[in-house]
Amino acid sequence: MLAPGPMAPPTSRPIEGSIPPGAAPLPPDAGQAPHGRGRPCVITRRARFSASHLYRLPELDDATNQQRFGRCSLEPGHGHNYELIVAMGGPLDGDGMVLNLSDVKHAIRREVTEPLDFRFLNQAWPEFDLTRPEGRLPTTEALALAIRARLEAHLPLVGLRLYEQPDLWADVLAGPALDPMEAFLSIRTHFAAAHRLAREELSQAENEAIYGKCARPHGHGHNYLLDVTVRGPIDARTGMVCDLAELQQLVADLVVEPFDHTFLNKDVPHFASCVPTAENIALHIADLLSGPIAATGARLHKVRLQESPNNAAEVFAETPQLEMVPAALEALAAG
Ligand SMILES: [Zn+2]
Ligand SMILES: [Zn+2]
Repeated sequence: MLAPGPMAPPTSRPIEGSIPPGAAPLPPDAGQAPHGRGRPCVITRRARFSASHLYRLPELDDATNQQRFGRCSLEPGHGHNYELIVAMGGPLDGDGMVLNLSDVKHAIRREVTEPLDFRFLNQAWPEFDLTRPEGRLPTTEALALAIRARLEAHLPLVGLRLYEQPDLWADVLAGPALDPMEAFLSIRTHFAAAHRLAREELSQAENEAIYGKCARPHGHGHNYLLDVTVRGPIDARTGMVCDLAELQQLVADLVVEPFDHTFLNKDVPHFASCVPTAENIALHIADLLSGPIAATGARLHKVRLQESPNNAAEVFAETPQLEMVPAALEALAAG
C-alpha cells in the first residue's frame, strides 16, 4: 500500500503486527512461522437483519418533513433487509486465525442483529431517539456509525459496510485518528450506451491494432453500472452525509440522462475528441459530479464504472488523495 501523502487523512487504523513503511521486508522464512502466527490479515464477516425506520423530525411540521425526507417521512415507516459486512484486522494466532469466527459471529449477533432484527430502528437504540436533542434519524450512514460504536469494543475493526439496499450502502472506517462522524455513502445506478474506441488521427488498421474489436467502425454497446461514493461527516440531527434524494438527482441529471441510450462518441460532446474508454468515461463522470456534489456539503470520493462483468474503472476523485488506497474499503467491497 502506498503511504498517504501529507494531506491525506489516515484511511484506517494500522493493523497490529503489520510491517511499518520502510521496515525491512519479512525474512524468507517468515511464512514458515507456525500457522502463520504474527502475520497480519484482514477478515470479513457478513450478517443480515431486517428493520423498519421513519424519517420524521419532531421539530418540523408534516409538510416540512415530507418536503425534506419524501416518502421516508410517511407514517408508520417502512423497512429494509439490511446486509452488514464487518472487516477486522490483526496478526494471526497460533491456530492460523485473526479471530475465532465463532466469537465474531456471537459478538455481531449479541451487539447488532439481536437488538435490531425485526425492530423499529427509531426506538431500538438511544442514538435514534428523536425526542433527545442528540438523537438523529436512523439513516444508513448513521446506523453504520452506531453499529461501529457497538462493535469496536469487542472486535479489532478495520471498518464496516452496511447495505440498506443493493443500490445504497454506507461505509465507515475504524480508528481513533478519524473524524468520528465521517462516513462514506454510495449509490448505484446504470445506463446503456454505445461507443467506439478509436483515435481520429490514426488509420483503421492502427486503431484495430490498439483497441481490437472495440475499434470496429459502427461501435458496440454496454450496460454500464455506475457507483458513486461521497464522503463527509454526518449531520448531527439528520444523520445524513448529504441529502440522498439530491445526490440521486444530480447523478440522474448530469450523467444518466445525458449518457443513457446514446452513442457516446457522437452524442456526448466531451467524447468527440476524447476516446470513451471506461477510464475516460469514469474520469469525465467524476469531473461532472465533483463540483455539484461539493455544493451539497459532501465530497465526491470515488466513481466506479463497471463496463462489463469483466472490467471496471475506478477514479478516486479527491485530488490530494490520489495516492490513497483505501485498503479497508477494498476489503469490505470484496466481502
Ligand atoms: Zn428507508
Ligand atoms: Zn466497449
